[in-house]
Amino acid sequence: MEHQHLDFDGLMNAMYESTAAGADCPTCRAAMERMNELRRQPRAEDKLSPWFWGRQRREIHEAVFAPARPRWIAIGALGCVLAAAVAAMQPAPPPPAPPAFSQEDLKFLQEVSETANRVEPRVLAPMHLLWAR
Ligand SMILES: [Zn+2]
Repeated sequence: MEHQHLDFDGLMNAMYESTAAGADCPTCRAAMERMNELRRQPRAEDKLSPWFWGRQRREIHEAVFAPARPRWIAIGALGCVLAAAVAAMQPAPPPPAPPAFSQEDLKFLQEVSETANRVEPRVLAPMHLLWAR
């Protein structure tokens, strides 16, 4: 089986879990040595005074154990969402009632409709008289 060089995660696992992965490969060993060299270099945090770390520890402790405040913004947003949902679920207004027609109007509209939709030309209308008894 061909060796695959360790990637960053593999190097991190080999360094912190003390596994022997990549120990036989000079490339992986060199990469691991470079990472160890970087880790041993002085860091900016090393120059901070103990007073800084004590203050940071105290602030973290206070933040963790502070009593929970009510979340007014979340409560307000939830109220708005509920109000919008209730408003959206109101029944729709009833459709407007159709206009009322009187009997004369209906008769007139019917005559207009019959006149407009007549198939027979007006000049041939008297021909019905020939067959009428
Ligand atoms: Zn390798």
